[in-house]
Amino acid sequence: MANTFSFYNTLSRKVEEFVPEVPGKVSMYTCGPTVYHFAHIGNIRTYIMQDVLIKALEYSGYEVKRVMNITDVGHLASDADTGEDKMVAGAKREHKTVMEIAKFYTDAFFKDFDAVGNKRPDITEPATNCIPEFIHMIEVLLEKGFAYVAGGNVYFDTGKLDNYYVFSSEVEKEQLQVGVRDDVEEDLNKKNKTDFVLWFTKSKFEDQALKWDSPWGVGYPGWHIECSCISMKHLGNTIDIHCGGVDNIFPHHTNEIAQSESYLGSTWCKYWFHSNHLNDRAGKMSKSKGAVLTVSVLKEKGYDPLAYRFFCLQSHYRKPLEFSFEALDNVTGAFNKLINKIAELKEGGEVDAKAKEKYEGEFRDAVANDLNTSMAITVLYDVLKADMNDATKLALVESFDRVLSLDLIGHAKALSEGPKVDSELEAYILDAIDRRAKAKKEKDFATADAIRDELLSKGVEIKDTREGVKWQLI
Ligand SMILES: [Zn+2]
Repeated sequence: MANTFSFYNTLSRKVEEFVPEVPGKVSMYTCGPTVYHFAHIGNIRTYIMQDVLIKALEYSGYEVKRVMNITDVGHLASDADTGEDKMVAGAKREHKTVMEIAKFYTDAFFKDFDAVGNKRPDITEPATNCIPEFIHMIEVLLEKGFAYVAGGNVYFDTGKLDNYYVFSSEVEKEQLQVGVRDDVEEDLNKKNKTDFVLWFTKSKFEDQALKWDSPWGVGYPGWHIECSCISMKHLGNTIDIHCGGVDNIFPHHTNEIAQSESYLGSTWCKYWFHSNHLNDRAGKMSKSKGAVLTVSVLKEKGYDPLAYRFFCLQSHYRKPLEFSFEALDNVTGAFNKLINKIAELKEGGEVDAKAKEKYEGEFRDAVANDLNTSMAITVLYDVLKADMNDATKLALVESFDRVLSLDLIGHAKALSEGPKVDSELEAYILDAIDRRAKAKKEKDFATADAIRDELLSKGVEIKDTREGVKWQLI
């Protein structure tokens, strides 16, 4: 029997008790990456929180099946239907074919996705695999009168819907209507400003590399259609939970619902789970602001990707989270202390089943209460402080880590077995020592001290000895 589980449903705008269509089973769809560029750590925050949602559901007794798309065609430079195709822009920038770009960034995405402890979706599907499904859905929408052909493109007719802005309050609706008027370059083919393209044959930009035959001429799909089709292909006509970042609420998820429910003639998805932005001091992280801060870059700088996960778990998924290296340094320090405490626990002895059940219940209540991850971590600290034997504590750490996925036992073991430094960290340490030596030679002692502190914040202590600089993990 699965336990009760609640989270904030963007569609009803309140925290709701989750009731899946089939008891104990959850079908879940998550919008995947657009593979024309690296996914920054803000994107990865979204995937971490989705991973926690899945594992928290599993911890509460549910079985989850999750599908994710890979957007390798049709996502334009803006969410509007104009501008330059992002894939083509990426290919031009890097002098590669669009499929080479897609492969490169898909691999890079999953490398970072895995490094932060996420479980891969049961099914991932690139949009370019599903062109016949897109064409079929568009044909049905045309037959049912929800779409029209104009100027060579096929558009979804939002004027046919009683309630297009399904996620928005009346005030937000007005703001969006103003926004839609201001942002979108006028497309005279559209009957309504909010109409969106399902299939392009006439593009405003040249050089579209990927094209397919369709009943409306050679062209390519709009972005929104892929999520509706890929979801239905693998999960059937209804899904329990649809996930994404808050950025996706409008227009992407609004358009997904419009086309899916017009196609089906019935409700498609009951629960919508959205996680908030990661900001840096300059504001919202975005791909267009030059250098992209990725999980791989954090690793190159000597951070443990799981310390970044720990950073994300300490804040609520519905709140914007501000990232700074200072904040990550603090969390890394706390993470190392936590590992130290776990490493001190001795194996052996009997697990106190009653105490284990009590704390597991507390942990489950925290995650099942709108994914209160910081409370779940507090329960972990409570366990470490509690008056019970080490065997019970270790069993609980292992149990909680099924959701937290911080590799707590693995880290603690590595610590007790003595420092094992991976080659990336070692290269970073040696480079930092070189930079410090150079700074000292140039009598730039402020920089030299800053480098020493930088190393210290990552748990590396250096000492100047007669034989040269020595370092050790602390
Ligand atoms: Zn989507």
